[in-house]
Amino acid sequence: MTSTVLPGFLDAHVHLALIDPSLLVRGGIARVLDLGGWPASPAPSAAQEADAQLPDIAFAHQFLTAPGGYPARQDWTPPGSVAEIANASDAAAAVDAQWAAGASVVKIALNAETGPVPGDDVLAATVARAHELGLPVVAHAEGRGQAERAFAAGVDAFAHTPFSEWLPDGMIAAMALSMTWISTLDIHGWGDPTEEFAVASDNLRRFHQAGGRVLYGTDLGNGPLPVGLNRREIEALLAAGLSPENVLSALTGPGPGGSPAPESSPNPNRPVASTHPARITFIPGARPSDPPAFVDWLCTARAVSRLELEDLQ
Ligand SMILES: [Zn+2]
Repeated sequence: MTSTVLPGFLDAHVHLALIDPSLLVRGGIARVLDLGGWPASPAPSAAQEADAQLPDIAFAHQFLTAPGGYPARQDWTPPGSVAEIANASDAAAAVDAQWAAGASVVKIALNAETGPVPGDDVLAATVARAHELGLPVVAHAEGRGQAERAFAAGVDAFAHTPFSEWLPDGMIAAMALSMTWISTLDIHGWGDPTEEFAVASDNLRRFHQAGGRVLYGTDLGNGPLPVGLNRREIEALLAAGLSPENVLSALTGPGPGGSPAPESSPNPNRPVASTHPARITFIPGARPSDPPAFVDWLCTARAVSRLELEDLQ
């Protein structure tokens, strides 16, 4: 039978501490980027040795935020997963701590709707230190003006397509030259689209048109999301103007910090898994051309090892 083999699908925004991560690979997700809550130990390689059903994991480790800022006071926040930073020297030390823990990216929260946010000096120091270490910075930008602040400070990626405000075309065109946006459209209503869904979808449509790099990401762990490929996220990407080919690129590209395959991380503190096989994507059947059939086909994807692939073909 005809089948399709692709690079391992990446969900570029998950919180493994809030879900059962062993369900991801049978749901078609081969690689994940954990954007807050993955602990300093065990290393992903050790976790994978203990559970062969885990996907390939890259992570941010702690959320960096202002003292008392989001998500320091949220009831879902895993213990020890927030670094509250008051000044520029704290910021550099917090980035160093993520590096030491094996992080591939630095996550900073700029959520002005839920508490204080890091000031410009803290933001600048965070970006400067992260870039010295070769780590990209991923921001959660929420509240009017926060996306623009993050971009101006040199943040590399948004953890969520900006959803608090409609961004002007000129700003989006400038962002498209250097930024990566992680989609997370479906968190805005989980199939019952909210105003934020419409705002984010329109921002993403123009970012994509301007040539911006989009990664599939769901914010898994936040609300009623399926553990695996999310059909609604894929449909939202297509509705925002991505072609089926673009959707495949959004699923198969490297993360903002390079690929979650450990060997390509810029961070030498991330040990390489010795026995865990990197997974690839297996989809029964050839890729259909019309979009509804494409989505049906895509959602039958499985993340398999090369050994498992031999049995399937
Ligand atoms: Zn998140």
